[in-house]
Amino acid sequence: MQAITALKPLLQTPKNIVITTHPKPDGDAMGSSLGLYHYLLLKGHNVHVITPTDYPFFLHWLPGNGEVVVYTERKEESDKLIAEADLIFCLDFNGLRRINGVGDVVGASSAQKVMIDHHLEPEGFDDYRLWNAAACATAELVYDFMVQMGDKELLNKQIASCLYCGIMTDSGSFRFNSVTAHLHRVVADLIEAGADNARIHELVYDTYSEKRTHFLGYCLKDKLQIFPEYRTALIALNKQDLLDYDVTSGDTEGIVNYALSINNIKFAAIIIDRTEIVKLSLRSKGEFPANEVAKKYFEGGGHHNAAGGQSSLSLEDTVQKFISALPEYKELLNV
Ligand code: 5GP
Ligand code: MN
Repeated sequence: MQAITALKPLLQTPKNIVITTHPKPDGDAMGSSLGLYHYLLLKGHNVHVITPTDYPFFLHWLPGNGEVVVYTERKEESDKLIAEADLIFCLDFNGLRRINGVGDVVGASSAQKVMIDHHLEPEGFDDYRLWNAAACATAELVYDFMVQMGDKELLNKQIASCLYCGIMTDSGSFRFNSVTAHLHRVVADLIEAGADNARIHELVYDTYSEKRTHFLGYCLKDKLQIFPEYRTALIALNKQDLLDYDVTSGDTEGIVNYALSINNIKFAAIIIDRTEIVKLSLRSKGEFPANEVAKKYFEGGGHHNAAGGQSSLSLEDTVQKFISALPEYKELLNV
């Protein structure tokens, strides 16, 4: 495996390029993918972004959104694009198992694989790599990639808007430990290049439906459980809850943070019955490793303070499994 700068000669001539990211892509997955998309288009390549699944409405304003191919909706076309690609960029994930069925198709393609990511423990499927677990967002690494390729002057409003969205969402609007002086300098460049920071914040965070706001109220009033002994908060949602409030992709995003925002709560989880699978989103404050819980009990992983996983048990059994795991962490949760 080579450093990503080794791609420079390859990218001198037009290539068929696919960019893919993780299922249920978030702001960083879409922002980094579309930022890279616009950059590679400018360089003269034939580029397609393929997402394993759909993604929330509040990301549909991103420049290039109309060109994104959703794998589950256009499988045959996606398979062909992946099979014919010279290069496949894998953004914001680091293991092919993480991207559902698309992983098998990507793995089978003879294309060279390029990974740009900031999650721990890369699996090692890639030929070229730009990886930094200390980076705040994959979008920050896409900016670094452009700089390393000597193309910083190509940064334009479209690229900057996409990358800004990725950094803003993965940094909790610039509040997490991962936010550094370097990151603020990157963001300054993005704003200078045309990213409209106030507008992007509004597009992402102030465009919920009325129903979603009622849903949030329901989660906080009727669904929040507190385990004071373990400084843990939990919200579990069943299928009926999702039906009652017409919950769609992205409506549940961010709700776990309300649980974590309670004084003295160190660990928060939202567990959702998504029919095919039960999904967990885990968040923590400070030293408590949310990703260790995700990894040990829920076939998942992620970052220290923001992780996720899944379970093939019923919702009730998954909730019980979660609650039963807490005593093991009692000491860590109470430091
Ligand atoms: P979220 O809770 O926002 O879905 O995910 C938070 C973080 O947890 C993501 O950045 C991702 O790294 C990680 N994550 C979420 N779900 C999974 C999963 O099923 N497997 C792994 N390995 N990581 C996950
Ligand atoms: Mn990310």
